[in-house]
Amino acid sequence: MTNPESQPTDERQRIITGFRPTSDLTVGNYLGAIKPVLDIQQDKNNDLYVFVADLHGLTDHDPRELAPYRTEVISDARALGLHHLNAHMYLQSDIEPEVVQIANRIAPYVSVAELARTPNLKEKMQAAVRDGKSDSEDATRANFALLGYPVLMAADIFAQKTPLVAVGQDQEPHLELARTIARRFNSAFDTDILVEPKIFAVNSLRVLSLDGKGKMSKTNPTQAIMFTDDPDEARKKIKGATTASAGDWNDILESHFMVASETTQDADQLQKLAELRATHMGGMQVMGDFKDLWGDITEKMLETFRKQRPIYMENDVDWYRQIGSRTAKENATEVLSKMKEVMGF
Ligand code: AMP
Repeated sequence: MTNPESQPTDERQRIITGFRPTSDLTVGNYLGAIKPVLDIQQDKNNDLYVFVADLHGLTDHDPRELAPYRTEVISDARALGLHHLNAHMYLQSDIEPEVVQIANRIAPYVSVAELARTPNLKEKMQAAVRDGKSDSEDATRANFALLGYPVLMAADIFAQKTPLVAVGQDQEPHLELARTIARRFNSAFDTDILVEPKIFAVNSLRVLSLDGKGKMSKTNPTQAIMFTDDPDEARKKIKGATTASAGDWNDILESHFMVASETTQDADQLQKLAELRATHMGGMQVMGDFKDLWGDITEKMLETFRKQRPIYMENDVDWYRQIGSRTAKENATEVLSKMKEVMGF
């Protein structure tokens, strides 16, 4: 039976995005990846599909490591504000039979050379050599899943008929390939079943680590605000954050002020942040006050998350995932059966 709540109304624009099945969220993940998606769902003109890219995770992760994170990502996203009325969330593997069949059926419309040329694959191969995991940057030495990644990604998009894909600009080469595949398939069978997707630009913020050395990452937890930190721990980390001398401004301070102001909606706190910034630029020592205020803001954010998250465990995740995957499966089944029809079997 179809769930009326998850029925797309065709007036809205369909947008798809994927979350990687990794947990231990940092404030960097939140502002760089999750908040932009929450912003999309705020606009009622948008019909949002969010999938947990667990099959994609298989390209370079041990599935046994990924397994627990597949549903944790859903709990995290719910606790941070993803709403069932505004976003369909599902696991990519919930619709594996449909999506993999779509991938198989589009595979003849892209060449191995085109796949091997994608900059993302080349970067991954270079990184593998750098990390000592491979002795060759040759893209044709990639495992088949990595080489075929853009085909599966195109299938994810075609399956939901989403003309817009909320991803970073770095994914443009993959979308270009998806458009090429769609054009070739549609023209071969004189159809318009496959949509030609475009990037939906989002306001993704880049968060520096607390010491300003590179981006905030869970791989360096002492320099990252983690959603699993207890408030004292987070305050201690913030106290130790690198800033700038009174009157000086730099990228590190820019990032810290941005994080503080993007993680509160309290008008007084926002006003206070603006004042502290002006006072600092006027040459007064206020970094201690700034860190106290940032600590308060962070404590509130972590407390809210800590209270919300248990509500969105087990039962909620199962229910939310079920309604999302049902809609996603319906869409994918429709696309796949139309493809089969025009292909003759
Ligand atoms: P990861 O946890 O590193 O796999 O990242 C998951 C998502 O969060 C990706 O879309 C990243 O671009 C985003 N992300 C992770 N760390 C940061 C950061 N420090 N600033 C902005 N975005 C981030």
